[in-house]
Parts: sequence; C-alpha cells; structure tokens
Amino acid sequence: MRIDQEADGELAGAITRIPVDSYEIDREAVIAMLERERRSFTASLIALSMMALAVAMLPDAILMAPLLGLRFASFLFTRAAAARLEQHVRARLPYKISRRVLFCSMSLTGVTLALLLWPQPTGASLVAVALLQVVVVVVVTLISVTLAALPASRDGMLISFWATACALVLFHPASADPAMVAVVTMAVAGIRIYSSSTGQHIRSSARTLVENRRLSEDLADALAHAEFLSWRDPLTGLFNRRMLFEETRMENSAHSRHLLTIDLDRFKTINDTFGHGVGDRVLIATADAIREWCAALGGAGSHIAYRLGGEEFLVIARGLDDAEIAEAAEDLRALIAGLQDRFTEQPGIRISASIGFSAWLFGEVLDDALIRADIACYEAKKTGRNRVRRAA
Ligand code: GH3
Ligand code: MG
Ligand code: MG
Repeated sequence: MRIDQEADGELAGAITRIPVDSYEIDREAVIAMLERERRSFTASLIALSMMALAVAMLPDAILMAPLLGLRFASFLFTRAAAARLEQHVRARLPYKISRRVLFCSMSLTGVTLALLLWPQPTGASLVAVALLQVVVVVVVTLISVTLAALPASRDGMLISFWATACALVLFHPASADPAMVAVVTMAVAGIRIYSSSTGQHIRSSARTLVENRRLSEDLADALAHAEFLSWRDPLTGLFNRRMLFEETRMENSAHSRHLLTIDLDRFKTINDTFGHGVGDRVLIATADAIREWCAALGGAGSHIAYRLGGEEFLVIARGLDDAEIAEAAEDLRALIAGLQDRFTEQPGIRISASIGFSAWLFGEVLDDALIRADIACYEAKKTGRNRVRRAA
C-alpha cells in the first residue's frame, strides 16, 4: 500500500470535515420516531381501554362498538405499517412505499379517532362523553408529537381528523352548535404547531447524531492514517527506519538472517537530469521491485523491506543460507537494473543499484551487522556499481 504526500493534507482535512448527508439525517429522525412509536405501545393500549370503558358507559354502546372496532383495526394497521417502515429504514432499503402505507394508515387513524366523537343523545352520561373526548384529544396530540419527524403522515392524520370532526359537527342532525367547527379547527391548529416544534427538535438531534458518527469515523480513519505514517515511508509504503529499530530491538530469531543494503547508483544524476518527480517514480518502482522480490524469495522465514531514507533500502531476509542469499541478491540487482526499460519517456535514464549483504549473527545487535552490509555496499560502489558484494 502506498500513500502520497497528499495524504498528510487529507489527514488534516479529515478531522475538520463534517459532511451533512440529508438521507442519513432523515433516516435517523425516522428511526428515532419509530422507536418512540414502538415504546408507546402500552400507552396506546391504555387509551384504547379507556375508550372502550367510555363507550360501555354510553346508552348507544351497541352503535358505538363498530366505531371502536374500526379504531382498533386502524391501530393494528398503523403498527404494522410502522414496523414495516422501520424494517426498511434500518436495512437502508428504499422506503417510499412504506412511507405511503403509513400515510394511509395515519389518515385512517384521523378518521377513526374523529368518529369516536360521534354526537351522543341527550341524557348520555356526561362523564362517559367527556372521557371519550378527552382521550381522543390526548391521543391525537400524542400521535402528532410522536410522528413529528414524518410531517406528511402527521398532517394526513390531523387533516382527516379535522375533516371528519367538522363533518360530524355540520351534518349530524344531533350535533351541537356549528361554531364547534372553530373550536375543532383551533384545537387541531394548536396540536399542529406544538408538534412541528418537536419535529424540528427530533431532526436537529438526528443531525447531531449523524455528524458525531461521521466525526468519529473520520477520526478513526485519521488515526489509522497517522498510525500508518508513523511506521511507513509515505512515498513507497515500505516500513521506515523507525520501524526497523523498533521491530528488530527484541529480535533473536531462530532462523539464519541476512541484511541487504541496497543503494541506487547515481540517483542524484536522475534527479538532476529528469527532475525530482521522475526520481520519485524511480524510488517507487524500486520499492515495488524489492517488495515483489521479497514475496518471491521463499525460505523458512519472512523477508521485510525498509526504506532507510533517500535512495537507500534495506531488506532483512530470514531462513536462507549464504549461497541462496548471494544468488537472490544478484536477481534483485538484475531486477532493479531492468526497471529502466519501463521509463520509455526518459530516454537514456540509467537505473541500477549497488547491493551489499551480510549475515546477521545470532545474538548480534542489528547495528553491527548493518555496518558490515554498508561496507559491502560501499565496496560494490567502489568496484564499479551495479553489482553485489558480500561482507567480509
Ligand atoms: P551513488 O551512486 O554514489 O550512490 O550516488 P547517488 O547520486 O545515488 O548518491 P547521493 O547520496 O549523492 O545522492 C542521493 C540523492 O537522492 C540526493 C537527494 O537529493 C536524492 N533524494 C533523497 N531523497 C529523495 C526523494 O525522496 N526523492 C527524490 N526524487 N530524490 C531524493
Ligand atoms: Mg546513498
Ligand atoms: Mg546512491
């Protein structure tokens, strides 16, 4: 894996960026609302029981019973619609249709609630009538608040409730004063205003939730990047010098180990002739070649490549004997020397490396073996470059 220098910029940007995704906000608001709806199940049952009690106390209880039954059926329909919507929203499935189904169920809710305000004959128990009316108004208010984050469904319920209640007032022969239309309208408008402020509150909480979640995801990404950069060279993705000393501090491997110091030849000339950008591409290509070579190396242990700085690389090869490593080092030299064929747009570019290798003896500190490998690399330079030398 390679990280460009741009990664540093992204790193800083990632922490401050707070994207506001309206789908996510909508989704969170709907989930919060549906959870509230689910939790209000007991309250809904209590309200239904109170309605049943009030209806039982009315002289026209038999006539009112179908209306109560309708209310109960509508209640079950709404719960099923809400459960389906919640399922779709949580699974991130398209939920337009579920939303419409809920809208229909809520419109039916408005009608069935208003029908419970059916004008009662004179002489009906005042307590029963008042109980029924109070429960209906409380239920309409609670549903409006619970559904505040779904304004279409809530308004569907309020409008159907208002229209049905007004129709009862205006067209039922036993109904009270038509001025009651104004009372119903004011009550519904009041509930609507109260509910919309709750809706804004739910949405802003959902927004905060989405932003916080996004922020912690960005922070986790930034930390992963920072972790990566602290152990890796950002240009080539190889481990860096810090990792070399950290990882090898405690090492006392049972395998035989070798160090290979790889230094590109006349790299400064490449920079001077073709520019720093081409120089960087040569470094990346060399790192890739070393990585591939490590992967194909075989042997009993793992082989790890590091960029020590500039155009200097190091490989710790494990589980190979001296002869095997000498042959493999020669392969690596040839592999790097072949890289120049890929730079067709830089005619005349010369890419090669001098390689020195040394055994890293059991119980020996890394630095001592490194010095021997460096000296061998220097020998390779001195004797003409583009060659491999074994430490004495
Ligand atoms: P020699 O064959 O003796 O090793 O010669 P050389 O030119 O390879 O070695 P020298 O140490 O003189 O030059 C190394 C150059 O590597 C100098 C420096 O500007 C360049 N360099 C170091 N780091 C980077 C880098 O990240 N990108 C690029 N493009 N150049 C780098
Ligand atoms: Mg050098
Ligand atoms: Mg060099």
